[in-house]
Amino acid sequence: MKRDYYEVLGVGKQASEDEIKKAYRKIAIKYHPDRNPDDKDAEEKFKEAAEAYSVLSDAQKRQQYDQFGFDGLNGMGGFGGFGAGGFSMDDIFSMFGDVFGGRGGFGGFGGFGGGRQRTQYRGSDLRLKVRLTLQEVATGVTKKFKLKKDVTCPHCHGSGAENGSSSETCPTCGGQGYTVRTVRSILGMMQTQSECPTCHGEGTIIKNKCKECRGTGIVKGEEVVEINIPAGVSEGMVVNVPGKGNAGQHNGINGNIQVFVEEEENDTFIRDGQNLLYDLLLDFPTAALGGEVEIPTLGEKKRKIKIESGTQPGKTIRLEDEGLPAVQGYGRGKGDIIVNISVYVPKTLSREEKETLEQLRGSENFQGDANAKRSVFDRVKDYFS
Ligand SMILES: [Zn+2]
Ligand SMILES: [Zn+2]
Repeated sequence: MKRDYYEVLGVGKQASEDEIKKAYRKIAIKYHPDRNPDDKDAEEKFKEAAEAYSVLSDAQKRQQYDQFGFDGLNGMGGFGGFGAGGFSMDDIFSMFGDVFGGRGGFGGFGGFGGGRQRTQYRGSDLRLKVRLTLQEVATGVTKKFKLKKDVTCPHCHGSGAENGSSSETCPTCGGQGYTVRTVRSILGMMQTQSECPTCHGEGTIIKNKCKECRGTGIVKGEEVVEINIPAGVSEGMVVNVPGKGNAGQHNGINGNIQVFVEEEENDTFIRDGQNLLYDLLLDFPTAALGGEVEIPTLGEKKRKIKIESGTQPGKTIRLEDEGLPAVQGYGRGKGDIIVNISVYVPKTLSREEKETLEQLRGSENFQGDANAKRSVFDRVKDYFS
C-alpha cells in the first residue's frame, strides 16, 4: 500500500508551498543516503519523500492528486508514473539537486522557488572489482583500495574561485541558467530550454578562476577507501558505496563506488547458492565396515561424521549451518555443507591383497542385491531427469 503523500511529508492538506518545502527538506536531510550509507530503510524513506514532494510541490499535480488520488497522476508526464522502483536515486538528485547542497553543503539551500532549479553537479561513479575467497564470503570482509579520483580542490575548497573571488551573473543567460530557443516542428512552434553553455546552468560565473582546478572545484587526487563487503555475496553482485566516488564540481554531490564481486575458485568446496558441496572419497573398507571421517569446514574446525557400515557411493550427508550466510536483507539463515560420498576402488594391489579379494569374489555378500541395483538405477534416472 502506498502512503498518502501528505502523510509521508507529515503536513496537512492545507499546507502551504513553503510548509511542504520545509517538511520535505527535513526528511530529505534526515534520510539522505550520504548520512545513511547501506541503510535500505532510509533509502526507501528518502525516495518516498522525494516522490511525495515532486507531486505536492507542483501545483497542477497537487490539484490532480487532491481530486483523484494516485489515479489522477497517471499519464501526467514527467516521470511516467511511479511504479515500484520506478524512482531512482539519480532521478531524485537530478530533479532536486540543489536541495541537497548547492554551494554550501547542507546549509546552502535557497535555490528553490521561482521556476527552474540550478544545476547540481554530481561526480561520476567509480567501478572496482574485488576477488573474494569463500572464507571472506562467509564472514564478510573490509577491503582497502587506493583510488585515483576527482577530489575537492584543496586550493579553493571546491568553490572554483581564486582567493575568494566573487561570482557575477552570467551574461549569456542573465542568471537563468538556461537559454530558450524557438524551433518549428510538426506540432507547431515549440520552445525548448537548454542548459546555458557559458555557466552550465549555474546562472553565475566566477570572475577569477582558481588556478589549481581552472574553476571546476575538483582536481585529480588519491584516496584510500575502506569498503565493507557484507557476508554472503556472490559472483556478479554489485556492492554500492554511496558518496565515495568522484567528487562533484563546485562542491556538488559525490558519485558512488560500485564494487563488482568476483569469487576465487575454492579447491575444497563447490558453491551452490548458500550450500557448499564436498566430495568425500571413501576407502572401500570404511564404506563396508563403517567408521568415522573428518570433513573440512570454512572455519578452522573440522567436523567428524559417522559412516554407517554398508555406505553406498552417491549417498549424501548434510552438515547443517556449515554453509554460507544469506546477504543481509535477501533471505535468512545459513546454508549447509552437503557431503557427497564416492568410494575408491584400488588401482594397484599387492599379491596378498589380490589373493584376499579373489577369495571374496565368489561371496554372495559381494554381489549386490536387487535393492542395490534399484538404487543405482534410480540415481541414474534422477541425474538425467
Ligand atoms: Zn580550485
Ligand atoms: Zn549562463
